[in-house]
Amino acid sequence: MRQGCPVIRRPTRPVRVGPVTVGGGAPVCVQSMTNTPTADGPSTLEQVKVLASAGCEIVRVAVQDEDALEGFRFLRRNVRIPLIADIHFDYRMAVLSLEAGADAVRINPGNIGAVWKVREIADAARARGASIRIGVNAGSLQRSVLRAHGRPSPEALAESAFRWIEILEGMGFTDLKVSAKSSDPMETVQVYRMISEGTDYPLHLGVTEAGTLVSGTVQTTAALSLLLTDGIGDTIRFSLSGDPVPEVHAGFELLRCLGLRTGVRVISCPTCARTEIDVARWAREVEEKVRTLSVPLRVAVMGCPVNGPGEAKEADVGVAGAKGFAVLFVKGKTRRKVTPEGALDALMEEIEELVRKKGKERLNEGTT
Ligand code: SF4
Repeated sequence: MRQGCPVIRRPTRPVRVGPVTVGGGAPVCVQSMTNTPTADGPSTLEQVKVLASAGCEIVRVAVQDEDALEGFRFLRRNVRIPLIADIHFDYRMAVLSLEAGADAVRINPGNIGAVWKVREIADAARARGASIRIGVNAGSLQRSVLRAHGRPSPEALAESAFRWIEILEGMGFTDLKVSAKSSDPMETVQVYRMISEGTDYPLHLGVTEAGTLVSGTVQTTAALSLLLTDGIGDTIRFSLSGDPVPEVHAGFELLRCLGLRTGVRVISCPTCARTEIDVARWAREVEEKVRTLSVPLRVAVMGCPVNGPGEAKEADVGVAGAKGFAVLFVKGKTRRKVTPEGALDALMEEIEELVRKKGKERLNEGTT
């Protein structure tokens, strides 16, 4: 299988979000955002834990008022994962979130208002070694930029981002990440290309208001694939309506596809009249079990024994359904028959064996 990374990343400076480095050649990291009321600390804590166990590396949490701030404080006391406080309008919430232990704040300076308020945020971040994401957004550009461009065009978004970079640099603050998301995937590509030409701050990629699971995933993938293969982007988020956990899954899947992360790729056949097992369910179950493994493996779940192993001969290991039993195969060759009930456990044993073997190989490579 394909190894290594064909993408040449554009050099960016490293910025810390708590223990995670963003940019500076660090792996592109996957973010998501909670959608429970932040004021409800225990529910948000539960969601953050689920996101973390799905592999999410940085979690963003909206802190919009005093109650949310209280929930954020509760959260900070109970989780170690890097937390970004997402702030609109009220600079005091940014300052107080930083005092509560936020690793970074995301602000849209266009709606924070006066420059002195942005300075207060920068001073609070500097005092705690926290970073700031300038999060320009098509829906909330400052009026002067909007007037000059007539609409939130890629040029307008880029201009706004550059303005705020300059303002924060003028305050001596450079621990910055930048995002400028449009809800249009191709405009998102344009704006990030422009920004990447003009700055070496790390970029957080995403398509804003991308949509529901399928539509939003496709739109985000379309834009982010173009950017990431150009080497642009240091951290990503899929902004999908609903449960945030699939955002994390989609993020890792995309990075794996582009060779920017290693991990287990589960392939499954599209099913046809020959299908003997519930391919979709089996594939989902395998995906759940292997999601956080970082060893590069291909695992196949195929519907029939006639074409399954042959069709999946690129797979390291796989299972194919048959009448009353299932077949485990390795590199396209049948290994053994198993009962349908025991098939997934048997497959997992094979995977664990391969993971152990590959882990040892990696260890040996590292010591020679
Ligand atoms: S592997 Fe078998 S069941 Fe699946 S699509 Fe191919 S022929 Fe059909």
